[in-house]
Amino acid sequence: PFCFADGQIISSEKATIHPMDLGLIRGYGIFDFFRTVNFKPLFLESYLDRFLASAERTFLPLDYSRAELKAIVHELIEKNHLKEGGIRMVLSGGVSPNHFSPAKGKLFIFAESLIFPAQEKYDKGIKLLSLEYVRPIAEIKTTNYAYPVWDSIRWKDAGAEDVLYHLNGHLSESSRSNFFIVKDGVISTPDTHVLMGITRKNVIELAGKVQIRPISMQEALNADEAFITSTTKVLLPVTQIDDHEIGTGKPGPVSLGLLEKFRELEKEICF
Ligand code: PLP
Repeated sequence: PFCFADGQIISSEKATIHPMDLGLIRGYGIFDFFRTVNFKPLFLESYLDRFLASAERTFLPLDYSRAELKAIVHELIEKNHLKEGGIRMVLSGGVSPNHFSPAKGKLFIFAESLIFPAQEKYDKGIKLLSLEYVRPIAEIKTTNYAYPVWDSIRWKDAGAEDVLYHLNGHLSESSRSNFFIVKDGVISTPDTHVLMGITRKNVIELAGKVQIRPISMQEALNADEAFITSTTKVLLPVTQIDDHEIGTGKPGPVSLGLLEKFRELEKEICF
């Protein structure tokens, strides 16, 4: 595969990073990730908005304009024949004179193959394990996933597909997805300590009305339905949190209806 690094499109295995880059020694950097559907980058403008905002908010200068980034993305899709795939944009923290202050980062743009969850997970729903944690600077898409990577061993041991983070019983999100509940037909999603997911945004628009507000663990356990959203999963029903079954224990009509609407929107845009 081809990637963009050092200001040009090169063979991916030739991409290099300095060993003292803050991305490596401090876990400091930003990224974004989107899908291509039928060779088209789905919701590219929204992902670029978020990537550019992340760079600005982490004090990492980016030498490329939105138009230049778009041109690189399109060239990579073409060069990699990326019909259904993923594109990852990474801006590292750079090599810092004091090995600490944000520096001038290095931009990488990679084409990747996608790993979708198995169909069975959509049919049966998944289990989340609740853990007390808040992502640092959660609104920014930083490359710091040290805690989630570390605790993933625990959720796997508990037979869970992923995690549900909370602070004092106030829910935020999952390791790489946003969280929603449905109760008496009303859809709600947490308002703070969450990444502004692009899938979250689109699901909110498709649903028409969603309450964006604090949600307690107790509310989630008593919900009729729950689901998570992310670029690669789109919308995955949650039927169990720890040892509690959610609703009927099966994916609910609101979740499945929204997933279908999303798939239709995808087709409308990309075909
Ligand atoms: N929350 C976190 C912490 C994430 O890493 C992600 C992304 O992958 C999401 C939510 C979902 O965001 P998106 O729908 O833009 O993929």
